[in-house]
Amino acid sequence: MGLHNKTAIITGAGKGIGKAAAIALAKEGVHLGIMARSAADLESLQNFLGKSYGVKVFQVTADISNKEQAELAINTLAEKLGTIDILINNAGVAKFGTVLEMETEAWERIIQTNLMGTYYVTRAALPYMLKQNSGSIVNISSTAGERGFANGSAYCASKFAVLGFTESLMHEVRKSNIRVTALTPSTVNTELAANVGLKIGDEDRMMQPEDVAELIVATRQLPQRVFIKTAGILTTNPQ
Ligand code: NAP
Repeated sequence: MGLHNKTAIITGAGKGIGKAAAIALAKEGVHLGIMARSAADLESLQNFLGKSYGVKVFQVTADISNKEQAELAINTLAEKLGTIDILINNAGVAKFGTVLEMETEAWERIIQTNLMGTYYVTRAALPYMLKQNSGSIVNISSTAGERGFANGSAYCASKFAVLGFTESLMHEVRKSNIRVTALTPSTVNTELAANVGLKIGDEDRMMQPEDVAELIVATRQLPQRVFIKTAGILTTNPQ
């Protein structure tokens, strides 16, 4: 399926996987709505994409953990783009610590961003896709959404929840020709991974954000009659 002249909204597009996805989709001729909290990241990406690929790029700063901000951002971008063909729920935060050590506020912030933010953004975007009777949604979960580990309770709970949300949503909207996919990458070489002390090792051997972006594009290029429900992507030979 060709992506040229399609439209996509990407949350957390300022850096890491979201930024790589924006670049990969722009290369395919997709017009973009990009969201994050840092205006500077979005502005520099907007300038780069506009100059390099000639696609339309609109940006809105918004904190997806805030329902009103998420809704306003989606409505603003939908109006500018005209349609929402693809939604990539990528924005997320991570922090590790034991259940007792981690502050309740930090635990809540992870759930509020990774789960509630994904829900707020999706709920705002869905009416546009239902009206079009088409669309496609990619939710970025994690291998942490498939297995728990010590110190990961908040992050794992949020990413398990994203998988449950994704599967339920998929059943609700597939009859409206909306394809819903969850991706579960293992550690990716981004700021998020570095900030929580995940092992990166030899960078050349490590999964890069561009690798996940390639998978996102590939899943969107499948014929409209099929979709990937869940896909994992792992570093081949981690150190
Ligand atoms: P990253 O490099 O830290 O980028 C995260 C992006 O999300 C940034 O643009 C950040 O921008 C934005 N963001 C964070 N909180 C936000 C909020 N409340 N509202 C709006 N935007 C927000 O992270 P990444 O590694 O690319 O992660 C992207 C996604 O992949 C996350 O959902 C993460 O859980 C998942 N993932 C990552 C890995 C990994 O190892 N890196 C593995 C599996 C899954 P601002 O701070 O400016 O808002």
